[in-house]
Amino acid sequence: MVLKKPIIGVLALQGAVEPHRPHLEAAGGEFRIVKTAEQIREADAYILPGGESTTMLKLIETFGLWDVLAQNFKEKPVWGICAGAILIAETVKNPEQKSFKLLPLTVERNAYGRQLDSHHANIKGYEVSFIRAPIIKDAGPGVEVLAEHQGTPVWLQSGKVMVTTFHPELTMTYPSPMHAAFVDQARQSL
Ligand code: GLN
Repeated sequence: MVLKKPIIGVLALQGAVEPHRPHLEAAGGEFRIVKTAEQIREADAYILPGGESTTMLKLIETFGLWDVLAQNFKEKPVWGICAGAILIAETVKNPEQKSFKLLPLTVERNAYGRQLDSHHANIKGYEVSFIRAPIIKDAGPGVEVLAEHQGTPVWLQSGKVMVTTFHPELTMTYPSPMHAAFVDQARQSL
């Protein structure tokens, strides 16, 4: 029996897209760039990558992708990374901005401050990068915290939605534990 590989659509409007390919393939998923409504519908799960959330929001509006994304996010697994986490949190601060509100999280953008613009950390034995990352200030009761860093949650999950405030894809040991967990979730949701 040949098991179908889950198609993981990485929203490719802006940000770190291609570095996900080797992680997803090593975890047994199919990497797909998604930019159009049709490509969005064809994917089995989504990564909203790290980058600049304000720019991504503008491009989602410009290309008319809000509704098709919101519709598909109701049914399929979604992983928001850094800027992607900001796009799916319920409440965004510093400054406030629109979001898909998939998880009851309050996030503050660029919250590590200038001196810590970028730093590396070891999360569950894996080297990851925090790049102008948000801090999760509050998480609702149904949200499971999978890892913390400096006293705040940085890897969370609730139902089919996963969030990391860091980038695991820039480290070249494939797959990262976060990609492995997400591809498993996508496979189970097929
Ligand atoms: N600072 C970015 C934002 O607010 C997020 C940075 C990242 O995704 N690495 O959208």
